[in-house]
Formats: sequence, C-alpha cells, structure tokens
Amino acid sequence: YTLRFSFMQKIVQKFGGTSVGTIDKIKHVCSLINKEIKSGNQVAVVSSAMSGETNKLVSLAENFDINKNKLEFDMIVSTGEQVSIALISMALKEIGLKGVPLLGWQIPITGSNDFTKAKIDNIDDSLVLDVMNKGEIPIIAGFQGVNSKNNIVTFGRGGSDTSAVAIAAAIRADRCDIYTDVDGIYTSDPRIVEKARKLNKISYEEMLEFASLGAKVLQTRSVEMAMRHEVLVQVLSSQTGEKGTFLTKEDKKMENELVSGIAYSKDEANITLINILDKPGVATKIFSPLSEANINVDMIVQTGSENGKNINFTYTVSRKDLEQTISIMEENKLGIEFERIITNNSLAKVSIVGLGMRTHTGVANKMFSSLASESINIHVISTSEIKISVLIDEEYIEKALNALHSTFKLDKK
Ligand code: ADP
Ligand code: ASP
Ligand code: MG
Repeated sequence: YTLRFSFMQKIVQKFGGTSVGTIDKIKHVCSLINKEIKSGNQVAVVSSAMSGETNKLVSLAENFDINKNKLEFDMIVSTGEQVSIALISMALKEIGLKGVPLLGWQIPITGSNDFTKAKIDNIDDSLVLDVMNKGEIPIIAGFQGVNSKNNIVTFGRGGSDTSAVAIAAAIRADRCDIYTDVDGIYTSDPRIVEKARKLNKISYEEMLEFASLGAKVLQTRSVEMAMRHEVLVQVLSSQTGEKGTFLTKEDKKMENELVSGIAYSKDEANITLINILDKPGVATKIFSPLSEANINVDMIVQTGSENGKNINFTYTVSRKDLEQTISIMEENKLGIEFERIITNNSLAKVSIVGLGMRTHTGVANKMFSSLASESINIHVISTSEIKISVLIDEEYIEKALNALHSTFKLDKK
C-alpha cells in the first residue's frame, strides 16, 4: 500500500505527433512532465509517433495490398510509437527522472481482433500503477494494443487520443491532458478560419459530433470513451502550456448556444446510381454488399422521378473506399437494376453543430442562404438533432467555413 497524499493527483499527459516531432520538442515535453511531477502529482505519459512517421510507415505498407496484409500492416504502422516512447525515456533520464517505456502488449492493452481499427477491450492497470507508485513514469505507446492471438493491433488514425483516455479511465486519473499543436478546441479549425475562437469548455456530446464530422483534434472514439467513463479531458498546447479546453457534461448555459462550431471533412466521395427500377428492397440490395465489405456509408439521398418508376440514389463513402465501392456496384448491377453510375471524388462535407438546434428553427435556412450568398452549390444535405451537414465542392471549404463562421457570429462570445 502506498501512501497517497490528498493533494497528489494522477494525471495522464498525452503528446501528439507534432509535440514529439524533433529531439528538441521531446526535451521540451520532458519539461512539461517534470513540471507536473514537481508539483507533487503522479504522471502517466501516452505518446504518438513523431509527426510524419506514421504516414511514412503507411506508405511503405501500401506497396502491398493492405486488405490481404492487415496483420503486417498493423505490425508496421505501430512501430512509430515504439521509437518515440524510447526517446522520451532517454530524454527523461537526462533530467534525472526515471521513465519506463511500455508497449501495448506489455501492459497489456487488449484490443479486439479488427486490425487497423481495433477497439480497446481491456486495460490491466496493475503495471502502470506499480510504476507510478514507485515514483517512476510509465511512458505508454499510444495507438496500439494486443489481440487475443497475441498480435499487435492498432486503433485507427489518431488513435493515441483513445489510448490516453482509456489509460486515464483505467487508472482513474484525475485528469487527462491532451497536448497538441493548437491551444484548445476552437469554434472551427483555427488553421482555416482566422477568426475561430477558443472555447473554454465544450460538452462531450457536442465534441462527439464535432469529432465524428471531421474535427480531427480528438479521435471520435476518445470522446466516446471520455463520455462513458466521465474522464476529465483537457486539450491544450504543448508550446504555451496555458489552460486549454475542457470537455464537460452538458449544462444549462450551453443549451442556448445555437451553433457552437463548424467542422469539415475532406474525406468524402459521392456515388450516384441513375435510373434504378423502384421496388421494395432496392436500398438493401445497394447497401448490404457494402456493409459486408465493411464500407461505411454516410449521407444517403433517394430521389423520386417523373414517371414514378425510376429513382436515383446518391450516397457518400470515405475516399479510400471509392474504388472498391464502384466495383461492388458494378458486380451487383443486375440485381440492383441501375442504368449508370456517376462518381465524384473531390467533395467536402461542412457541418454546423450546436445543442440549441434541438429547440430552435430556421438554422438550416440560415446556413443555406449563407452558402448561397457565396455562390456555393450544395450537392447533398443531411441533418440530425444537433447538426446539419452539406456536401460541397472541396475547393470551397475555406470560403464556406469563413462565411458560416460569421453568419452564426461565432467569433463573438
Ligand atoms: P496531434 O498530432 O497532436 O494528435 P492533430 O493534428 O491530430 O494533432 O490535431 C490537431 C489539429 O486539429 C490542429 O492542428 C487543427 O488544425 C485541427 N483542428 C480541426 N478542427 C479543430 C478545432 N475545431 N479546434 C482545434 N483544432 C482543430
Ligand atoms: N501515430 C498515429 C497516427 O498518426 C496515432 C496518433 O498519432 O494518434 O495516426
Ligand atoms: Mg491526433
């Protein structure tokens, strides 16, 4: 039994790729760890690979057919984190701290068997807590775990966020600090919208929509996990170290916020099937082979037609899935009974998010007229309780984000 003083907190510090992108940055990160330790807290570190490394590993693996080599793919792309955690450990030693670099299998962080997008099933907290209670610092490789067959699995791009929140939940950390290259969560991507405003807090629910609509600052699953286990998450800059944005439970004040943020995703491809014979079962004929192939379909629109016999179907998939989707449609052409297929690979999805949309009307029209006044054409629209998404040509992302940002007065508190 180790004595824990009441003021002593358990903090998870997660460092993203740019925060550990060079040796100097790694040394800087060690000073952030040191600061937390010196203020009397216990720390567990979770790190990403150095920036650019995972992309390099992915392109190496892509010399071969990934669908036939998923085990090897995860074995390759997980190595970036192995390098960064060992470097952090070396750098900590230089300033007199003892780090213990740990790979997923050593802890173990157990993941499901889905290579490239495994879910975290379980984390054994004992090793991590033992290290911390000895006054040492576990430095945990993000993004990776081990499956029931002892293979390395990875958690999807951006997965270190999920590793960090999962570790925080497992060791019941008082806080999970996600250090990145912006100083918090903004009303829109601050790299595109100059007037984007930093939020002091955002509800789990809004952040969940925000993340799943493309705001890659947090991986969607990390937000889900934080919400489920009520982990106190802060997103902050590793450069300034200033107070960032906290994820919180929804409160009254937030409900008034009509639109709280704008997200975008460039990862959109559009498929339109023209002149399908309209009869019961058409939709399932289109979508069941896609779901069997594990292809995720996002926006779906079915349109009527003049003679009442033929309809069109438009839907979107992730760009990387477009080719496979087309060939699946061609294979099923006779069954689906469509005439031809049209595709578009240069589209973007722009979405406005806000809890206030539940109770306010007119938000959608305000969005459409804002885009119209910029002469931006909308291809597809989809809505849910707290968001409205439109599909537009990729080249208009910047124009659309900035126009919507000012239409909904997001730069003003
Ligand atoms: P890390 O390498 O630290 O994991 P990421 O690149 O995954 O960092 O995420 C940080 C990036 O997220 C920022 O550089 C920013 O461009 C982008 N981003 C998109 N939307 C937002 C937003 N609403 N608020 C803050 N950052 C955002
Ligand atoms: N290194 C992994 C990636 O680039 C995981 C992460 O950074 O969160 O996706
Ligand atoms: Mg990230």
